[in-house]
Amino acid sequence: MQHGDVLALARLGMPSQQVVVLGADLAGAVVVPDDVEVDLRQRDLEQAREHQDDAEEARERARRPSPSRHALTPLEKEPPEIDKVIGIMDDPTNPVKSTRLPVVIPPSPAMPPARSLLVTDFDGTLTRDDFYQLAVKELLPDDLPDYWGEYRAGRLTHFEGLRNYFSHIRKSEAEVLDVVHRMGLEPDLAACLRELDSAGWDVVVTSAGCAWYIDLLLAEAGVDIPVYSNPGRFVEGRGLLMEPPPPGPFFSHDLGVDKAGVVRHALGEGRRVAFAGDGFPDQEAALLVPDDLRFARGDLAAVLAESGQGFIPYSRWSDVARDLCGRPA
Ligand SMILES: [Mg+2]
Repeated sequence: MQHGDVLALARLGMPSQQVVVLGADLAGAVVVPDDVEVDLRQRDLEQAREHQDDAEEARERARRPSPSRHALTPLEKEPPEIDKVIGIMDDPTNPVKSTRLPVVIPPSPAMPPARSLLVTDFDGTLTRDDFYQLAVKELLPDDLPDYWGEYRAGRLTHFEGLRNYFSHIRKSEAEVLDVVHRMGLEPDLAACLRELDSAGWDVVVTSAGCAWYIDLLLAEAGVDIPVYSNPGRFVEGRGLLMEPPPPGPFFSHDLGVDKAGVVRHALGEGRRVAFAGDGFPDQEAALLVPDDLRFARGDLAAVLAESGQGFIPYSRWSDVARDLCGRPA
């Protein structure tokens, strides 16, 4: 049974807009108007029961914490609860006296829209300053090769450039953590996330930087949101060792994390998607969302302005949150 299949409509004697089999992500629920009695064959009932079992499994998975917040798997969505049971089975070739069929009765007149999603960069977007830029000023020796220039010239990937810089850090962990704490994480982040949640917005971080300092700052702020970034660890004498994320649907050779892939995935689910960023690596993802949901500052704002693309400027991340919360759901 495939997403969007229309189930045995001729047998049901119903027009196509009345009965729809939803995709696996919604666990094969059958949507039936309140006043319609359903006639299904045994095979259809077995499929419905299998999908009900799948729904239970999917709900259980969604309740469990993800084993890794950086596993680069698409966001899991909790399937709908079964609200009401109606329906009588009647199959002349394989008779069963009476079977109750689980069906979902949607709110009238249509299914509720999926929650909106804000995809946000971290360095220089959720924080005032970029870790890389602070590291160049305060943690790295002056005589390093120009990895940034090599990246801008296309001779290194963005991931390789950052990884090279981070591996030259020879300061103590305490000194590095002091710099991390001076990145200036949005001070109202926790409150903003609560307000966005109430307004129907989920938030996910996509970063070409390193999860080592992102996880640390988010945990200290008491927030737990999905993070797609490059894993890493700090080892005194060897620097911040950044690694590419494991293979997955949002892996990018250039950035480590495919920010645009995360946006495309959410758009493919029919969600309203906003994007906030500040750097060159944000450009592709930013261009996938409408002008009025594209938030930019810094280098991203400059390249968008140069190419005549519309965007909403912001000075701090809470401006983005406040703007989105003020919009109709
Ligand atoms: Mg950034």
